[in-house]
Amino acid sequence: MFTDMDIRGVHLRLDQGVKTLLEQHNYPAPVANLLTQMLIVACLLSANLKLQGRLSVQIRGGGPLKWVMAECRQLSNDPEHPFRVKGMAQFDDGIAAQASLADMIADGRLIITIEPDKGQRYQGIVTVDQATLAECIESYFYQSEQLPTHIQLVSTSEGAAGFMLQRLPQALANEHQADLDWELVHALATTLTEHELAQLPANQVLHRLFHEQQVKVFTPKLVEQQCDCSRQRCGAAIIGLGKVAVDDLLAEQDAIVIDCHFCNQHYTFDKVDCYVLLEQDTMASEASSSVH
Ligand SMILES: [Zn+2]
Repeated sequence: MFTDMDIRGVHLRLDQGVKTLLEQHNYPAPVANLLTQMLIVACLLSANLKLQGRLSVQIRGGGPLKWVMAECRQLSNDPEHPFRVKGMAQFDDGIAAQASLADMIADGRLIITIEPDKGQRYQGIVTVDQATLAECIESYFYQSEQLPTHIQLVSTSEGAAGFMLQRLPQALANEHQADLDWELVHALATTLTEHELAQLPANQVLHRLFHEQQVKVFTPKLVEQQCDCSRQRCGAAIIGLGKVAVDDLLAEQDAIVIDCHFCNQHYTFDKVDCYVLLEQDTMASEASSSVH
């Protein structure tokens, strides 16, 4: 947070955890790089909003990359609670090693969904019509909230990191001064090279860019790669199918296997498991209806 200016920023670097997430899948390099950048964006936006809840960033398109999604969950703003991330991509074969965002996505839409633990769910959608994800996010904020925003993202063999600056939305006492402040800070931020962003720790990035400005630095938080799938949630999905659909599936196969597309975990429900679930559900709904 800049002490004398209505501007705040977030810096994030990802290392081993995200590699684990990406190695679980066989993503082509441009898909892995985009997904990494989307994971970074999800955390930057979540931190910037001090959100308690979920924030997801998705791109859906008609090109070879059908859907790519990253989600950040934050239990609390307490530094002891890490950001928990998960992400996945669905794509056709044949994405070239040098494919650009435009090559991978045709008629794409960028969808940002915010689900606070308490309060209203919010969703914003913009067209993917910029060359990079960072420019798409800047354009999103300009279109949806008229908030000047600077985002720089890097995902290369050198490292994966992101840096975001945004003007605070509240009414300003001196708008002209705030414009000048933003121009200065933004101009300084744009001097950060991709190499520096990928390599330097947060305090060095801050010093490199803003050693002449007064900034307040907050306690850093960790980012953990952690899926929130569970046997219980998959069981609920089987109950959601209903008895007729479960009968049909089990007529053709011995078990229903649910694969988590985020973490590659497999959950197997054999016939006994499935019918016990459906039975328990029937008993639960009978019990609840007899209460009235
Ligand atoms: Zn999972």
